[in-house]
Amino acid sequence: MNHKNTKIIEYKANTLIVANHEENGKSLFIKVNGPNRNIVLDFSNANDYVALCYNSKGDLKSRHYAISGKGSFMIQTPFSTIHLIPFNGINKLKEETMNNQNHPMWDHINASLKEKVDILAENPYRFYIGPNVWVFRNSRQEILEDYLKEAIANEDYELCQKIKEVKTFLSFINNHKISRDYIFILETEETMWDVDVRYYLKKEGNFLKLYTTNDTNEEFHNCNASLEINDYLNKEDVVELLENYFEKWRTYNGLPRFRKEGLLDEKEFYSIINNIKEKRDHYIKRAKELKTSFIDFLDKAKLDPIPDGKNEYQWLAKCPYSKGKHHIMVSTKNDTYGCGWCKKKGNQRDLENYLKTREL
Ligand SMILES: [Zn+2]
Repeated sequence: MNHKNTKIIEYKANTLIVANHEENGKSLFIKVNGPNRNIVLDFSNANDYVALCYNSKGDLKSRHYAISGKGSFMIQTPFSTIHLIPFNGINKLKEETMNNQNHPMWDHINASLKEKVDILAENPYRFYIGPNVWVFRNSRQEILEDYLKEAIANEDYELCQKIKEVKTFLSFINNHKISRDYIFILETEETMWDVDVRYYLKKEGNFLKLYTTNDTNEEFHNCNASLEINDYLNKEDVVELLENYFEKWRTYNGLPRFRKEGLLDEKEFYSIINNIKEKRDHYIKRAKELKTSFIDFLDKAKLDPIPDGKNEYQWLAKCPYSKGKHHIMVSTKNDTYGCGWCKKKGNQRDLENYLKTREL
């Protein structure tokens, strides 16, 4: 080793801030003291380096490129010595990393601005901003701030809005300070009443709770659906929450139409709707396959049973107690029925008896 151009650093703390140790373009040779543990190198505001990581026997175990300039980022390695060599050759870097075009980092690096924002909303453990350089969850606010500036420069105001929602979403997960306590998810048109409904997630304690507002009522309406905040929370969880909510209310309101994007866009919205439709079609098919003689009985009694599509046993039929004003719920699992409005329930014999008394 050429000691003239190398500065030796004893590593003790949890995080080594590289910028604090830089000296006239010297290489940094980091000796890790204590037990073999994960090392966090913070490259914020640091120059560019190739990081060579050695095990206790002095074998080179891995090589990273730490290219700074985009907010702060870190690399994490379980090695005993790390050699940081000043790096000024972007072309050489490309050459070496071109060898593995299938590495998932390329999906991040080559993504469009909007795709990058979408990837960040997935809250991945690593978010790549350069070959072999990734950003951990805690340092993504600065990156989104840069993306926001880029979107403003491009006059893409829809994307600006989305970046703000993603920024807020990640700040909730990572416990960053933020002036807002809600995220706008999307706006839909409820087909049954022709009313626009906006969906929000509001942070309350350690939960993100689903709320709506609509044209006639600007106040937040609590939907009684929520997500618990944890490190792994991501946009997929929001998609699932919304899917369950739409599904629950589908029978009464019909399926909504897309109006305006927030954290989720039109494509994600319609994938939710298609999922619900596919699930419904599947259950309707299964329900018909599992049809029982109770359903034949309801049919003969002219109560028009139809599969509900919520699971393979659930059917709907006209309610005989109200002369068909609403539906009874029927389950072929144990061939029973129930009406929540008329407060009636029973099996085929109960219904037969009731229909006989009605005929008298
Ligand atoms: Zn009824």
